[in-house]
Amino acid sequence: MRRTGDLKLIQELNRSIILDTIRHYGPISRSEIAKRHKLSPTTVTSAVSELIRDSLVSEVGTGTSNGGRKPILLQFSPDSRFLIGISISGSKITIAEMNLEAKVRKKEAYSIKSYQGDSVIAYLLQIIEQFVQPYENLDNCVGISIVTQGIVDSDNGMIRYNPKLKLKDTPVKEIVESRFQIKTWLDNDTNAYLLAEKNIGDFNHYQNMLYVTIGDGLGSSILVNGSIYRGYAGGAGEFGHTTIDRAGVRCDCGNVGCLENYVSWPAIYSKLLSGLAKGKESCIMELAEQDINRISSKTFRQALDRRDPLAESILEETASYLATGLVTLVHLFNPEVIILGGDIAFENSLLISKVTEYVTEYAHGILTEGLSIRLNSLGEDVEVVGAAAVLLQDTFQFSL
Ligand SMILES: [Zn+2]
Repeated sequence: MRRTGDLKLIQELNRSIILDTIRHYGPISRSEIAKRHKLSPTTVTSAVSELIRDSLVSEVGTGTSNGGRKPILLQFSPDSRFLIGISISGSKITIAEMNLEAKVRKKEAYSIKSYQGDSVIAYLLQIIEQFVQPYENLDNCVGISIVTQGIVDSDNGMIRYNPKLKLKDTPVKEIVESRFQIKTWLDNDTNAYLLAEKNIGDFNHYQNMLYVTIGDGLGSSILVNGSIYRGYAGGAGEFGHTTIDRAGVRCDCGNVGCLENYVSWPAIYSKLLSGLAKGKESCIMELAEQDINRISSKTFRQALDRRDPLAESILEETASYLATGLVTLVHLFNPEVIILGGDIAFENSLLISKVTEYVTEYAHGILTEGLSIRLNSLGEDVEVVGAAAVLLQDTFQFSL
């Protein structure tokens, strides 16, 4: 039995190495693949037949011959199948159809309104139901991959703890699989974003980096020696709940002075409202068409582009708090890169320059010499592309 298991594992490994080679170097011939990886021609031929049968690879013409018969060339077929990626944040559920290279073909977003606990899950099922309705069948769907905030047990597909949405030990993978009969993945959102930036975005050659999401909350993911550090119970990186003020604001988690109450959209929003109430000079209301309910993180970023004094002073304060937290992370993990993402960070170069300035000033010089703090490379699509990265990594061991 052991022997059969080992053989199967080797075959699967060879198959993913071959698929990855075709993705990177295609159009490529079978013999070239065999030569690159010192595999036998039989091994390559049988794995390629399976890949063609599964529509993941197709034959495209012939290459130049070295004397004998012209070799048939192989190419990856990213559009032969698709996957569904979903991100659940504190304020919205985003769902998208993507191809096998995580290219977004269709994307929809739904406000989470005041749903909490079980009603969030009921709402999620309703959104998936509506999204898959137009499909004749889902035979070509590789799976559904969901990413969300909080502590997630990715092995068992369970949300262990999400204080914002009031979810505890919720078996999301099992619920979705039993309803739709499609293989489902679940992971922490920021871990997924880091994976996406490494496997699909611009950060593939870094081994020690951090990803920080600043949106409805504040999360982080830690890459140590090329692997995501998850901690004992999968809860590593709960950056937003590190304490920065023992006499501070009470947090949803029950503690006081958690960093996310100073660095997140709700914190910025309440500062904006209080600034406006005090009559501070600002173009925010004009950007929001005089409707207070239309003030969003996007309005805030637009105001920054216009050098709005109120928005700039709030950003300055937020960047200083964020830098205080990042200095701790820099001292703990000594990363080469810190990527900033999330609704507050997208295209926000002022945030990057302020945070870089403060971190350089506060942290040990030796740890900041080679450190760069950068905006994420996948923009707002990272929410669903992150979900795709989890599925693609697990199914095909894709790396770019
Ligand atoms: Zn907290």
